[in-house]
Amino acid sequence: MATFRIAVLPGDGIGQEVTPEAARVLRAAAARAGHTLEFEEALIGGAAIDATGGPLPEATLALCRRAHAILFGAVGGPRWDDLPPDRRAERGLLRVRKELDLYANLRPAKCFPMLVDASPLKRSVVEGTDLMVIRELTGGLYYGEPRGVERQADGSARAVNTMAYTSREIERIARTGFEVARKRRKRLTSVDKSNVLVVSQLWREIVTRVAKDYPDVALDHILVDNCAMALVQKPTQFDTLVTENTFGDILSDEAAILAGSMGMLPSASLGPAGAGGGAVGLYEPVHGTAPDIAGKGIANPIAAILSAAMLLRYSLDMGAEADRVERAVLSVLTAGHRTGDIAGRGETAVGTRQMGDLVVGALEGGR
Ligand code: NAD
Repeated sequence: MATFRIAVLPGDGIGQEVTPEAARVLRAAAARAGHTLEFEEALIGGAAIDATGGPLPEATLALCRRAHAILFGAVGGPRWDDLPPDRRAERGLLRVRKELDLYANLRPAKCFPMLVDASPLKRSVVEGTDLMVIRELTGGLYYGEPRGVERQADGSARAVNTMAYTSREIERIARTGFEVARKRRKRLTSVDKSNVLVVSQLWREIVTRVAKDYPDVALDHILVDNCAMALVQKPTQFDTLVTENTFGDILSDEAAILAGSMGMLPSASLGPAGAGGGAVGLYEPVHGTAPDIAGKGIANPIAAILSAAMLLRYSLDMGAEADRVERAVLSVLTAGHRTGDIAGRGETAVGTRQMGDLVVGALEGGR
């Protein structure tokens, strides 16, 4: 039976409310499987600025480096919005991603049957949607050189960004795509713009080559414009999608609306393989610190709890426990329990802590 170190970084706002619930669920799930998790909490974001003057204390970074996985809440809020860019709360998160080389962003979009009507799309379109967008996170247009604005003598200007990828960068995100697809329904769709961009032509060539190592996964290719349409026309046709940074940024947000509520969306950012048997990763809800509801105890902890399930699956290689957490969430929702953001008219809403209790209870088989 193994012991794993989990860094817990709740951050700010509702991050401080939902992260403890996710940690409780993690602890209960691992205990059932006979494993021990050692949790160590550290400051990040606005909370760290207030306490130490900067958004990422060295002690926090050192803890992240030692950990098998990081359970993260959210950072930022109006209180820290006026600080100079390099000292803002979000910088802490960006630096952790960079320092740990977290190059693969996983964003599942699953439409829960009892929440279908919360989606802006028709029931007949979204029902049964269960897909995963994998976005390359450290390369491409957002980082490529040259970049910048050239001011001309005549007062006009020219701005440049560069979409650049090496074959090594493409190969490692492609491998993540195949590995993740293997843990799902074994279908991978690679998204590119190879009819126009040479970067995409290299992307397609490398992904096709890597596919030979994964004969159990069915691969297809789709152009990004076509994919954007297909996601809202027939999202059920997709299982796992893999794409470069900018396309993934846009498509993962588009896929997110299929699921209905911000409070239901987990995510993972994975780096190279680590000591836990899986990839070192940072797991966080997609939502932010929600200053409008922070401190009221009403935030939905399910996105954080489902992020904890991803942590079990991808960093600790505990797929069965991850399934169990997801089933526990489903059973609580099936029993009709809702937080305010997903409650329908006339339905009574439970608070953050109570929702955490319900999921832990379902997990332990008590309810
Ligand atoms: P947000 O996700 O915090 O909130 C958007 C809306 O969704 C709000 O009305 C909020 O109440 C609701 N909401 C979000 N999560 C919810 C939950 N779990 N339960 C119930 N309702 C929920 O986005 P925002 O308002 O644009 O940003 C607020 C702050 O969070 C900003 O400072 C922003 O920079 C920061 N932020 C941080 C991260 C991160 O740390 N990764 C991500 C996004 C935004």
